[in-house]
Amino acid sequence: MDGSKTPVAAPVLILLGPPGAGKGTQARMLEEAHGLVQLSTGDLLRAAVAAGTPAGQRAKAVMEAGDLVSDDIVIAILRDRLGEADCAQGVILDGFPRTTVQAQALDALLAATGQRINAAISLEVEDAAMVERISGRFTCGGCGEGYHDSFKPTAKPGVCDTCGGTEMKRRADDTAETVAQRLEAYHAQTAPLITYYQGKGALTRVPAMGAIDQIAAELNAVVSQVTT
Ligand code: AMP
Repeated sequence: MDGSKTPVAAPVLILLGPPGAGKGTQARMLEEAHGLVQLSTGDLLRAAVAAGTPAGQRAKAVMEAGDLVSDDIVIAILRDRLGEADCAQGVILDGFPRTTVQAQALDALLAATGQRINAAISLEVEDAAMVERISGRFTCGGCGEGYHDSFKPTAKPGVCDTCGGTEMKRRADDTAETVAQRLEAYHAQTAPLITYYQGKGALTRVPAMGAIDQIAAELNAVVSQVTT
């Protein structure tokens, strides 16, 4: 040991749940409320695709098909992002890990810096509702605020409530056909992580079929408890 680096045990939280469970929405709210950094591998991959990086080029077709991008690509992207300065304040992982290999890689990465997972929170939803949730969602291209045609429309059609922006975006993989494949990938490869974190005594289940603010209040309570 060179003694020059003091590992900081910043909070590390994981949000688990199928596509449409509200991980992104809730992670953004937790980010503001608790001063954590939202770390979404989906967002990082979409940025890599848009930038045309080698990883992005490999990931593009896989994402469009609703399958999981390979562990080596995702772990490398996550490791780089986690090493950036702002993550020292604590992170909320949204969409990572999605496989047991990724969960083990995360354990090793955190162990190397003296950190650990404070909680893995499973957002408990019903699959049948996810297709409607996903196919109606859109975000503001200006500030990233998330909306939904039925559940959270903008106050004025086509205008962002938060920044007044008028360029709304819908994800290429938020179609009914792709959602079915994404749900299948979740159940086959990601749902086993619920047992993985339960075994570590880190799992908390939060019912997530209700109103966004009510779920946020429950999550706030869980996060306050595990980070203080
Ligand atoms: P998300 O924005 O979390 O819904 O992710 C969108 C897509 O990115 C997924 O359907 C996968 O194709 C890919 N993706 C995101 N995170 C991961 C991950 N941890 N492992 C593998 N693929 C991922």
